[in-house]
Amino acid sequence: MPIGLYIHLPFCRVHCTYCPFAVSTDIALQDRYCDALIAEIDARGGGAADSVFLGGGTPSRTSRENLTRVVARLHEKFAIADGVELSLEANPEDVTEDAIAFWRSLGVNRLSIGVQSFHEAELRPLGRVHGRAQALEAVRLATESGIRTSLDLILGLPRQTAASFAETMETAIATGAGHISLYILDLEEGTALIRQVEGGRVSLPDEDLVASLYTEAIERFAKAGLAQYEISNFAKPGEECRHNLRYWRREEYLGFGIGAHSFVGDRRFANTRDIHHYIEGAHDPVFAEVLGDGEVRRETIFLGLRQATGVHYDDIVRLCGNGGIEWMERGLGDGWLRRVGARVAFTPSGFLLSNEYISQLF
Ligand code: SF4
Repeated sequence: MPIGLYIHLPFCRVHCTYCPFAVSTDIALQDRYCDALIAEIDARGGGAADSVFLGGGTPSRTSRENLTRVVARLHEKFAIADGVELSLEANPEDVTEDAIAFWRSLGVNRLSIGVQSFHEAELRPLGRVHGRAQALEAVRLATESGIRTSLDLILGLPRQTAASFAETMETAIATGAGHISLYILDLEEGTALIRQVEGGRVSLPDEDLVASLYTEAIERFAKAGLAQYEISNFAKPGEECRHNLRYWRREEYLGFGIGAHSFVGDRRFANTRDIHHYIEGAHDPVFAEVLGDGEVRRETIFLGLRQATGVHYDDIVRLCGNGGIEWMERGLGDGWLRRVGARVAFTPSGFLLSNEYISQLF
């Protein structure tokens, strides 16, 4: 079976205050990093792939020479059919007509643009480099070029209000983008933002407000033709991200670069997050686990229920026995689960507390 490929391109202009990813602001390292990336692809490459995701970091900051040689090496090492989904994450300040034409010449057919908000008062404290006008221009250039376009938005930002979020959402819809990812801000350990919040220097919107804005967003996006297909993802028909669906369907993928995760057979493993070690050739996994029956059951349910199509009722019975039946009947009765034909899925309010509900199953 073809697998998916994730390539981590970690360079960013600044390290945004909320970001927990493996990133580097030292662009001078990029040539050596890409040498190491190619060495890793050479060592682990082989077989067929039917989705490629260039993520980061900010792949749109990677030089044309480096992007060209990394993508060329992927084609040498993997059988990648013409036209398979090839996504690239871009920040608005990097998106120009010329850049889009270049990315397309590499086979990129989907752009995921990190907008986060259309309000500068919300963007600045996060460390984002772009403003509203730049974000609008980037999305306009992308949609008008005909490339599949996705916008990332964040709900629950400092300074965000119901009115400012509604305006961001309406602006995003009006761009005509075929895909929107809406993430609820999660305060991650080790980030500047968590320290600011814990130190009382920054406050976040009320949790109940965020919850009601999330459920309203699901309805509003649906009216605009952007159906929810995963907790945080909304798409027009056919615009779902094939590569990300692979994660939730437990299909195999290989990740290359710092912090990249892979899933092959019954094994999950991850690379070092340390860019210096990686450049020096440390490509052996720093984390690896072979999944036992219990983990497979848990993942099947946990990842399946992230999707709006949910999980087959009989599968939950098979995997969880009578406890699963009781759990589903309770969820259906209390309104945090719904029936989708022979399947069960979370309702919008269920999605908000999905981790809590799923933990009751195991
Ligand atoms: S949020 Fe995006 S642009 Fe900001 S540091 Fe993280 S990966 Fe880089």
